[in-house]
Amino acid sequence: MVTTHNLGFPRIGAKRELKFGLERYWKGESSRDELTALGAELRARHWASQRALDFAPVGDFAFYDHVLDMSFTLGNLPERVQGFHGDKLDNAFRVARGRSAAGEQDHAGCCGGVAAGEMTKWFDTNYHYIVPEFTAQTQFNLDFSRLSAQLKEAQAQGVKAKPVIVGPLTYLWLGKAKDDSDKLALLPRLMAVYRALLSHFNAVGVEWVQIDEPILVTELEPAWREAFVRAYEGFEERSVKLLLATYFGELKENLDLACGLPVDGLHIDAINAREEVALAAQTLPPTSVLSVGAINGRNIWKTDLNATLDWLAPLARELGERLWIAPSCSLLHVPVDLAGEIKLDAEIRSWLAFALQKLDEVQVLATALNAGRDAVAAELAANAAAIGARRRSPRVNNPVVQAALARIDAKLGHRQHAYAERAAKQAALLNLPAYPTTTIGSFPQTGEIRQARSQYKRGALDHAGYQAAMRAEIERSVREQEKLGLDVLVHGEAERNDMVEYFGEQLDGYAFSEFGWVQSYGSRCVKPPILFGDISRPKAMTVEWIGYAQSLTNKPMKGMLTGPVTILNWSFVRDDQPRSVSCYQLALAIRDEVLDLEKAGVRVIQIDEAALREGLPLRRAQWGEYLRWAVESFRITANGVSDDTQIHTHMCYSEFNDIIASIADMDADVITIETSRSDMELLDAFDHFKYPNEIGPGVYDIHSPNIPTQEHIVQLMQKAAERIPAQRLWVNPDCGLKTRQWAEVIPALTNMVAAAKTLRSQAR
Ligand code: GLN
Ligand code: ZN
Repeated sequence: MVTTHNLGFPRIGAKRELKFGLERYWKGESSRDELTALGAELRARHWASQRALDFAPVGDFAFYDHVLDMSFTLGNLPERVQGFHGDKLDNAFRVARGRSAAGEQDHAGCCGGVAAGEMTKWFDTNYHYIVPEFTAQTQFNLDFSRLSAQLKEAQAQGVKAKPVIVGPLTYLWLGKAKDDSDKLALLPRLMAVYRALLSHFNAVGVEWVQIDEPILVTELEPAWREAFVRAYEGFEERSVKLLLATYFGELKENLDLACGLPVDGLHIDAINAREEVALAAQTLPPTSVLSVGAINGRNIWKTDLNATLDWLAPLARELGERLWIAPSCSLLHVPVDLAGEIKLDAEIRSWLAFALQKLDEVQVLATALNAGRDAVAAELAANAAAIGARRRSPRVNNPVVQAALARIDAKLGHRQHAYAERAAKQAALLNLPAYPTTTIGSFPQTGEIRQARSQYKRGALDHAGYQAAMRAEIERSVREQEKLGLDVLVHGEAERNDMVEYFGEQLDGYAFSEFGWVQSYGSRCVKPPILFGDISRPKAMTVEWIGYAQSLTNKPMKGMLTGPVTILNWSFVRDDQPRSVSCYQLALAIRDEVLDLEKAGVRVIQIDEAALREGLPLRRAQWGEYLRWAVESFRITANGVSDDTQIHTHMCYSEFNDIIASIADMDADVITIETSRSDMELLDAFDHFKYPNEIGPGVYDIHSPNIPTQEHIVQLMQKAAERIPAQRLWVNPDCGLKTRQWAEVIPALTNMVAAAKTLRSQAR
């Protein structure tokens, strides 16, 4: 008999109940008891949905973040909150977001206003965790209270509980040594607490513990590989069984290491590391369990169950009781339930599986393996029909798009001439001053914009009324920019709800769910659009809006588009062809838009690639391959224009030192990037790499309500001019201004324009 289990369940709730509960609590609109009760209710509901499994995860629920919870379990709180009053949950919120509930005024003087913890991406997902903090002095101290309470709850509900913890090496690896000390030096101290934790699990009757070590799918330094051996040998005298969980990739050179650790089972992500499953089956000791992640825990497509059974069945015969099956990773990365999607096109819906449907798939696989395929003949037939229909659907396959893709050649991604020649032609045409000023695209999303959009959605405003409201907003932002004296204007993006959804909605090959929310961090969720088919552009998407904006002014109006790589990286992407193919299809569609804008007289076009870096594979060895097709996609999109059309791109993440050569290779005439927060530190990259084209290092941190002063902006630009020749510098904010208010934006941009004038006069 195979054993079924799950690595983790989404905590946010099918209707984002946790999000709303948290936000009510933080605003002081609900009590602590209400929030705690909501947590218990969600856990109970989620366990009930996992009843059919042999083991359900416990401890995967978190009010804010599971890595933060682990820090509390290990007693590793950042120094700045150690003296805090209040209870643990409030302190957790303080670590995560700088403050807890608004109603908690009594601690405002002592516990309020602390710096929020650093947040970063959980491997290559869009989930963000709170980075653990260490120093050489860090001491650990077991706090079993959260896990003990949740185990009790689970036991009371008859859940076959398998607690889930972050393993010691992954925990250290995810954290940051604030004093640059060697994190591995903390391992002996940390292991003492992990050993105590396992004894506590044993004492409360736990049989299996899932210990997550996803860093085993990355390239580990020898010291870290050795530390694995040392650490897990330290677990030898334990009385609970350990399932070592890896996911998100292949183990490669770490496979032998993982198979040799003294644990009782190993979980492998068979979506990303199918080939390693058989290898692991041979390498693991004969007493070890092999858990196979056979269902994709990160995407929303139905699994081809028959094909999966074809390769699972021999493995089941070989391993017998030792085979476990599960989703490939925690289901945290997919929405909860497809059942609520009544508005979604029925055909597309029949191709999808969210968390609950994925658990059903695990069940069908297990039944087929345990009792024969006949026992689930109806389920398998229905699955085969859906898989076949999707494969054959004319909505997925568009021969015109496929033919266009086949015609892509090297020429498509090349401008007519090199940058220097283009720059001269652009200067003659645009006639811009030194240190030209511009913004990144969006202007404040005002109450009026939101109201018009929701009225339009509800049908309270007709199409013409909505268009008129958006035009009024565009006119307002053009007038403001003229008053401010900016050099290259933007239309302000009033008509866009979201920079990816806006384009997805106008492209063929995209679908949208209503409740397909996935947690991004804390209470923040995203609803990625679903890229299901060959991508094409039925008609121009932005030309009318940009053309209207240009008609209002004599200054150059910058056309604003989202690039193919960013659209891809912020979507759920079809799994029946390489991501690169979908990216090239997006590139061709957006290229047509670029050319249409140019034809309409738009001479400056910005193509945002905010998410380019997010697509980098976990293993550095694979970066080159990704960057090759990502950069080529951008080039295809951008580079069909004539020399005197100026292409801008924009990126807004911090570390780009390590991919700067690829960014230069995109060959945009101008790149605007986020830099103001780090005081231009980011420009260190330019000490070693001579960026050949123009660059606008952000001088206004748009994440903050603070207004940058003219002097500060001048200083920042002077720092930039030490690295980049002044004639290739632009002056602009870090990112779009849509989250700010006009009352903040106007003084900030006034200072920015004044700073540019100072710089010009100094240059003379
Ligand atoms: N053009 C977009 C804006 O200004 C860019 C947003 C982003 O980089 N995330 O809003
Ligand atoms: Zn940005």
